[in-house]
Parts: sequence; C-alpha cells; structure tokens
Amino acid sequence: VFSLLSALLFTTPAFADSSNDIKPGAVASCGGFLSKVWKDVTTAIKNLFAKKSPDFHNVAIIEDDGTLIGKDDMNLCGVAKVYYQSYPDDRHMLFVFGAPAGTYNAYYSSIRNDVKNIGRAVMDNSRQCGSNGVLMGFANMNTADKWKSFVGRNPLDGQPFGIPLLELWPLGVITHEIGHQWIAYIDKPVNGAMLVTDPNSVYRSHWDPFVDNGGSIMYGNNWAQITPGIDTTIFGKHIVVPATYTSVALPGGFTPLDKYLMGIIPSNQVPDFKVVKASSSHIWARYAVPLNTAAGSRVTVKMQDVLHVLGGERVPNYQSSQKIFKAAFIYVVPKGTKPNDTYIVEYFRRAIPQKLKKETGVFDMQTEIAPKGQAITPHVILPVVKPLVQPVTAPK
Ligand SMILES: [Zn+2]
Repeated sequence: VFSLLSALLFTTPAFADSSNDIKPGAVASCGGFLSKVWKDVTTAIKNLFAKKSPDFHNVAIIEDDGTLIGKDDMNLCGVAKVYYQSYPDDRHMLFVFGAPAGTYNAYYSSIRNDVKNIGRAVMDNSRQCGSNGVLMGFANMNTADKWKSFVGRNPLDGQPFGIPLLELWPLGVITHEIGHQWIAYIDKPVNGAMLVTDPNSVYRSHWDPFVDNGGSIMYGNNWAQITPGIDTTIFGKHIVVPATYTSVALPGGFTPLDKYLMGIIPSNQVPDFKVVKASSSHIWARYAVPLNTAAGSRVTVKMQDVLHVLGGERVPNYQSSQKIFKAAFIYVVPKGTKPNDTYIVEYFRRAIPQKLKKETGVFDMQTEIAPKGQAITPHVILPVVKPLVQPVTAPK
C-alpha cells in the first residue's frame, strides 16, 4: 500500500512540486501570511479597472499595466483596490489568479480577524487594501496555467469541468487556503508540545508534522506506532529505546479541532489527540505522507488543555459564527491580453461552494459577482464531483 501511495504521490503533483517537496525540510506548498507587506500602488492603479469576463460573467478581469503582476508574485492588496473601483465592497475573500505565488503553489493572506481565542489577534487592516472592514483576506491562486492539467473544457459548450485527482488537488488547495483564516495559529506550547509551525518561518502557520491528527488538510500526520518504546532495567542496566511511528495517511479534510476553530462544532466535540515528541524523525513532506517517520514518546492533548492556552472558548461560538461567505474570483492579465483560459478560474469559482459545504457541512460560499449597480445572478451550488482517486486512510 505504501509503495502504491508513494508512487501516486510522486508521479502526480500532489500538494506541492514533487521536485521541491520530497527533500526533507523542503518548502511546503502553501504559505499563510498574517503580515505580508504590500507595495503601495495607490497612484499607479488609477487607470486600472476590473470588468466582467466576456466568457464568464462572474469572473472579474483586470488588465494590468505592470503595476500588479510581479515577476514571481501578485500585489493582492493592489488587486483589491482595483476591484473596489468598479465592484461593491461586499466580499469576504478574494481569489486572485494570474501570477506565481512566490515559492508556494498558492498562499492566503489574512488582513482582518474578529474571532477571539483561536490563537491570533483581533485585527483589521482591510482599509489599507480598499475595503471598509469587510474583506477578511485574499489568496494568490497562482497562474491559471498552473491548474491546466486538472480542468477540462467541454468542446460543445465551452463550459469547464474538473478532473479532480485525489480529494486534495486541486480543490483541496483552495479549501486549505480558506482554512488559513482560522486554523493553526495556536503558537504557544500545549502540554510542552508545539502544535503549529512558526508563522514567521517559510512553513507558515500549519499543524506541526508531529501532531497526530489523522492527517488534516492543514497538515499534521496520522501517526501509527510501529514498535513500542522500551524503558526497562535488565541486569542492572537501564535501557531506553524510543517507540517508532510511521505516517499512514494522506491529508484528508478538516479535523474536529479545525472545525472548532472555524466555528463549526463546540469544543466538547473535539476528542483528545496525541503529539509525538520526537527524538529523531524523517519528515519528507510537511503534510501527511506515508514516508514520514518519527521516534520518540507521545503526549496526550485534551481540548481543555488547548482552551487553557487559547484563553477560553471561541468567540463567537459555533452557534453564532459566520457561515456564509462572499468571494470574488479575479483574473489579472497583462494589458491587451484576451485570455482563453478564464474557464480554469471559472471552474474553481463554480466548484468551491459544494466543496466547502462537503468539507464543513455548514459553510456556504457565494461566488456570484456583478459591477456596482448591476444585478448579481442567483447563487448556485453544483453537485459534488467525485475525485478519480480516493484518499487512503489506514485504521488507527
Ligand atoms: Zn497553507
């Protein structure tokens, strides 16, 4: 099973560039930024505007004159300001395509948070990017070309369709970026174990690989114990051999702790979980992959321990939390370009409402947009598309 899985992972672009990510400690596929600094382009964007894509009216096209598209990144804050020049300020998230996402496959940058006790501060920098306290964050979704192998186009009607391979690619990527609004900001140790990776490191805020969470879409692993630890005295000699563990799953969906932080379930529905305190390890990828191994001991973390570190229950709680989100899908292209691959952006836009509903049960994302003064088309949730390959989760 493991060789099948690893063959699968390395012959397909799973969560990251395989060339980059099979090396220990290599850069993970995503960055969640809390304090990314954007170049101020207020004056330069005066002549830029967003307009309806001629092919897909719910995608906004911005023709850029070199102000927004950088060599290996997009000025997302500038994109937001251009968007608000012609579209209303009613979106919680913006998904922007058209330039590489630095060293990542995609990344999310949160600029506003009003949720208390999830490990990150209440803050609002939305005004710096042209929103009046509405926008929560934006994602650089890379170039449309990045996703070309996974999105087809019906030659008869020109409509996009997905070729989802595994749950986690490509729709899992955008789901993961949305998760960055709330998940994996618990930056103080719980029972002596760090649960998340350093937001200021290249790994950004994700569950630490040693967290035994079944393999969250926000990383961590499903650690199966392979050999028990030995701590005994034989013939007067004290012998300590650490237990060994192997990761036995690929990233799945949101875990109970993820859903608690997102405001979906109450804290008493989050089961105890374990963290491996590793004395040695081979972490081949930052997300769950059945090549990751570790040796050491395990500590148990109870939700009460997590709440103690977080300073109490989430506010607002799962009953009064926000569950309906409005998003815009924006394609930034060089000036004079008439893109013929907007259908790829449209695929993500159409598919994310059902994907998010499937992964959370209660979230909805409204992705229909229209310029100021124009009517928005009715919200549509399309049926779930089954991936070609189902993820394998080994029994615990
Ligand atoms: Zn991420």
